[in-house]
Amino acid sequence: MAYKITDECISCGACEAECQNQAISEGETIYVIDPDKCTECVGNFDSPKCTEICPIDNCCIPDPEHTESREQLLEKWRRLHPGETPLDT
Ligand code: SF4
Repeated sequence: MAYKITDECISCGACEAECQNQAISEGETIYVIDPDKCTECVGNFDSPKCTEICPIDNCCIPDPEHTESREQLLEKWRRLHPGETPLDT
């Protein structure tokens, strides 16, 4: 499932540069994740980078409204990175 950023966000922007899918952008008040681009970092890394880099606990979290299988996440990754090879984890 895609990740989302909660109201705990302090808008430091640390996550934006880490996302290899360009799924994170600055919203009106906090940073936001585009669920059409977030693959939980499937294809790029073996764990979600935004969660790792975020200085706030429980700020970048799985979004239960966007549940997807690993295969669906990989399909999304392939759409975003045509011609590239996903990280095999
Ligand atoms: Fe980007 Fe990975 Fe965070 Fe999704 S989980 S927004 S792909 S850094």
